[in-house]
Amino acid sequence: MKSGYLKRVGKIGRRNLEANKRLKELYEEKDIRQCELRFHGCMVNNYLTFAHKKKRVEYLSNPDGLSDFNETILACVHCHDKIEVSRKLTQSMFEILRPNGFSNQEKSESDER
Ligand SMILES: [Zn+2]
Repeated sequence: MKSGYLKRVGKIGRRNLEANKRLKELYEEKDIRQCELRFHGCMVNNYLTFAHKKKRVEYLSNPDGLSDFNETILACVHCHDKIEVSRKLTQSMFEILRPNGFSNQEKSESDER
């Protein structure tokens, strides 16, 4: 394996770690400490992860989005897996749980007109 490859993975890995650290602080401030999705079979406050609105690669041009409250949902691995396989489900859960993430976008778009 070439060292350049390892270097790149290391950089992305570090950025994800930093984003997760920021998110953890953000969610603790908001007192969100349980899975927000609560699908059938939810593990509630075990194996918690951050689910992102978009795919990881889409944040390469917008790294701040990785640690943006409106771009993330606190989810146990069970519920995370359920939305992970369906962009439609991901989208609708974000519409319910993070309505501000959408209205802000719409607002800034209409301001430009
Ligand atoms: Zn869950």
